[in-house]
Amino acid sequence: MTKQPQLDFHTRVIHACQTPDQWGGATLPPIVQAAAQAHPTAEHLSQTFAGQTDDHIYMRLTNPTSRVLEEKLANLEGGLGAVVTGSGMAAIADACMALLRAGDEFVCGNSLFMSTYLLFANVFAKYNITARFVESTDLAALEAAITDRTRFVYLETVGNPKLDVPDLRQTAAIAHSHGLPLIVDNTLATPYLCRPLELGADVVINSTTKYLSGHGDACGGVIIDSGAFPWMDAGRFPDLRPYVDRKGPLAYLDKVWREHHINFGTTPAPLHSFLTLLGLDTLALRMERHCANATAVANFLSQRPEVAWVNYPGLVDHPGHATALAQFGGRGFGGLLTFGLKNKEQCHQCIDHLQLIYHLANIGDCKTLIIHPYSTQYLSFPESLRQKLSITPDLLRLSVGIEAVQDICHDLGHSLDRLIA
Ligand SMILES: *Cc1c(COP(=O)(O)O)cnc(C)c1O
Repeated sequence: MTKQPQLDFHTRVIHACQTPDQWGGATLPPIVQAAAQAHPTAEHLSQTFAGQTDDHIYMRLTNPTSRVLEEKLANLEGGLGAVVTGSGMAAIADACMALLRAGDEFVCGNSLFMSTYLLFANVFAKYNITARFVESTDLAALEAAITDRTRFVYLETVGNPKLDVPDLRQTAAIAHSHGLPLIVDNTLATPYLCRPLELGADVVINSTTKYLSGHGDACGGVIIDSGAFPWMDAGRFPDLRPYVDRKGPLAYLDKVWREHHINFGTTPAPLHSFLTLLGLDTLALRMERHCANATAVANFLSQRPEVAWVNYPGLVDHPGHATALAQFGGRGFGGLLTFGLKNKEQCHQCIDHLQLIYHLANIGDCKTLIIHPYSTQYLSFPESLRQKLSITPDLLRLSVGIEAVQDICHDLGHSLDRLIA
């Protein structure tokens, strides 16, 4: 699976799992746009159903283009295997549902991505599943929330949009001491900045819609299994037994795929897997620029009198700065930042005066993007919940792109100049 593990990450984002000899010499895999594959004999299809061959059967189950993406993302995150899905939320739902039964609990950070929060707090509650929300950086609270019914601990490498940075190594140690796996959503950091599996996490998820595809042209997600979690050791996961017997270290991924991915139909379209593979070629280059630009923009905004505060893990006074510096190996601090103006009206004015920066609900595009979360994504949230999630009326979220940084700053400066006090 891992073609050239000795190569540097910058090289592997381009070359890992590329097999032109199998693609008629093409340097990118074909987009296999077929709902099902024909098999030479009745016996062969029967063997494939029995899991004795790796051949493809039907698009909802597996697809050749998507399999290349799975192998590449497993390589980049340092995992044993991966399942790609039709969206980041599909990956999160599959990854969690595979471990949850009615009556179960899990512990998670309370600054999660909005749809993740709604899935955990509202949708899972319908099945009598309890998400115990804690401050992601409060290790004592996290440990105190673990009970006999807990099935996993769930965090984001960098919370979206609070931008808190939990210590993954310490959290993994606590989870493991209770016989629990740590699942990490690595969307904001990407494997360029952080590889949670190397820090002790057991499962890593990415929304590939964001930085991994990088051009705002595809939707997808991925679940990557380290293959290292000892499912049978603590007696907490008797339901994993048949999967361990069948697939050994890939037991969890097999359960994700066999039980949830296939039956919920969380399948990606092959075109989206292809576009994600194309985008991945430039991931390292883009992330370098995203990080450099975001640092410069954070410093620029900090100097502006109209800006009340700037929240970016790259700023030395950010509470997660030291953790981010250690966990991201000095490669940078990501492309996302938030900043504060006086109130909601000023935030709306600021957006309306922008000329270059796109106003839309996405992050991780190579273009700079802005949104006022309070009056958009969190519009329907009760005020008390918005406060708990740090979604205040004065907050703007900026996903800093890879344009020339002086043009990004000029657009922001031009807009701030026009604010009505
Ligand atoms: C966008 C996002 C998701 C959801 O991904 P989709 O591809 O939109 O379903 C999950 N987690 C984080 C941190 C995100 O930013």
